[in-house]
Amino acid sequence: MKTIGLLGGMSWESTVTYYQIINETIKEKLGGLHSARILLYSVDFAEIEKCQSEGDWEKSADILSEAARNLEKAGADFIVICTNTMHKVAPEIQDRIHVPVMHIAEATAEVLKENQITKVALLGTKYTMTQDFYKKKLEENGITVLIPDEKSIEIVNRVIYDELCLGMISSGSREQYLKIIDALALKGAQGVILGCTEIGLLVHQEDTSLPVFDTTQIHARKAALASIDQE
Ligand code: GLU
Repeated sequence: MKTIGLLGGMSWESTVTYYQIINETIKEKLGGLHSARILLYSVDFAEIEKCQSEGDWEKSADILSEAARNLEKAGADFIVICTNTMHKVAPEIQDRIHVPVMHIAEATAEVLKENQITKVALLGTKYTMTQDFYKKKLEENGITVLIPDEKSIEIVNRVIYDELCLGMISSGSREQYLKIIDALALKGAQGVILGCTEIGLLVHQEDTSLPVFDTTQIHARKAALASIDQE
């Protein structure tokens, strides 16, 4: 079994979910007392968020590369960055280590293609929704990406940082998200990507008729399967 290197803490609320899904997948596949080989490097998210809001992506790349190097030194066979947003610096991290980074948007694109989705709504932080680093990975796979209007981008982003990353789950915010998802469905989205690793704590498949693609579930499951060569 390969050792999975989790680069977590962004926020820790969703890293918990990664740990759980990876172990549940290993249990499902191998049974008995089997559990995943995992190394976790959990960063201080306040430090990372400060880099984001100040636009200092270089500093965040330095912090995360150092953490990834430590995971590699400790024996990780591949690295899983447990956040969509910080994949903005995935190329810089990959350049500074020898083991592969399993990209969350590539994993998601694979699942969308398996489900014949060609036009998809994307919810995530304002960085993920408005910048190119994430959407490009989907577009390269022939997938058209729809994002919410400006006011809705602010709502989705605020709920992530002011509520979900602090462990607050509000039914009012869920309603707001569902309205935003409905608006994107009306524009032709065939599914919605929960493109922030905490959104799955708020929105579930049973809340909407639109197919939901939860990046935490997709990424964590793929990592577990890769660790036992069953990808
Ligand atoms: N976990 C979130 C994501 O998947 C947001 C936190 C962050 O900015 O890293 O994008």
